[in-house]
Amino acid sequence: MNIVISGGGMVGMTLARLLRLRGFEPIVLERAPAGHYMPRGYMLGFQGYEPLEEVGVYKEVRDAGRPIAPRPDQPPVAVAVRFGALIEALARDLPVVYEHTVVELLRDATDRITGVVAEGPDGRVEIEADLVVACDGMMSPVRGMAGIEPRFEPLADAALSFMSPVPAETSFAMKYLSDGGHIGILSWFEGSAGWRSVDKVGQEAATAPGLDAIKKMWAELLPESATAVEGVTSMDQIRYSEPQLLSCQQWWVPGLVLIGDSAHFFGPETGVSSGIGLGDAHALAQAILQNPTDADGACRSYELWRLPVVRPYEAMDPGRQRMVTAGNVRGRPEEIWPPED
Ligand SMILES: Cc1cc2nc3c(=O)[nH]c(=O)nc-3n(C[C@H](O)[C@H](O)[C@H](O)COP(=O)(O)OP(=O)(O)OC[C@H]3O[C@@H](n4cnc5c(N)ncnc54)[C@H](O)[C@@H]3O)c2cc1C
Repeated sequence: MNIVISGGGMVGMTLARLLRLRGFEPIVLERAPAGHYMPRGYMLGFQGYEPLEEVGVYKEVRDAGRPIAPRPDQPPVAVAVRFGALIEALARDLPVVYEHTVVELLRDATDRITGVVAEGPDGRVEIEADLVVACDGMMSPVRGMAGIEPRFEPLADAALSFMSPVPAETSFAMKYLSDGGHIGILSWFEGSAGWRSVDKVGQEAATAPGLDAIKKMWAELLPESATAVEGVTSMDQIRYSEPQLLSCQQWWVPGLVLIGDSAHFFGPETGVSSGIGLGDAHALAQAILQNPTDADGACRSYELWRLPVVRPYEAMDPGRQRMVTAGNVRGRPEEIWPPED
């Protein structure tokens, strides 16, 4: 089977490695230059361990990170690790066609997808494929080209977060607030990231109290974050966002399948998005191995295995609870952000 993977993020690269181990030679097209990624506070959930173990990077990533909820004689529930440590390990010695953006899909007379058109430094190239795998992230351009409808559900609250070059004393701490919101800290060896839910007041209002007030609030509400937040020195390290959940009723059409963030995205307090995406890659590689000359058969088999795993996570996302209670419960005065006069 000729396979084109659109997107060389963690899910696309893991899928490529898993397929190569099964004797396939997929082409990975990545629009960014080699080595480019957006740093973020990152924890690898246990759901991603097995695929990473199979492609030979799990131990390296685990050793580069700090365990979250370590257990005797068992792997930790998650690992807080510098995001680049995982991306760099996956990219090492893996053939990826960088600086090539998928801009169009090829179709035959029956409307089946038969490949992609990519734009690179030397112009446009057409690449035929029996199966195109969209691993191009939450805003997946390829999903739109294939005509698959995403379902975006805005969460009831916004997120205020920070990135700090200073590690926290603990790898993870999280607390629920009295209005059902949450505040947390995640720390790897080289830095840390904190987050909390806030009302959807917009970037300007959420950051208006200023850096010192933001740092004080974090240290008071979550003392475990005090050392880390002290390392924040500029408002550039503070981010306001309005997260959305993403799900897709349909995961594939003849000739193309969505996996990873292109198919689903979970709420910020779950920390499961990437682990589920890595599990998708594992299941798809195995489905292709079992249907090596039948792309639709592989997609059907993939869907059969994966629906019972992914749909419960989508349904149970803790962010949904706040969709029900938001606005009904007022938090304690010291928790409200921005502070009320
Ligand atoms: C701030 C933040 C914090 C997060 N924290 C966690 C966490 O703690 N734990 C967790 O499990 N998950 C976390 N996530 C989610 C996690 O990062 C994603 O689930 C994971 O990166 C998904 O990988 P992916 O390969 O599916 O998509 P992406 O990482 O989005 O990769 C998609 C790739 O496709 C490329 N691409 C896009 N369009 C095209 C195109 N047309 N042609 C070619 N290439 C294209 C992009 O350049 C990119 O490299 C976080 C995300 C954010 C933003």
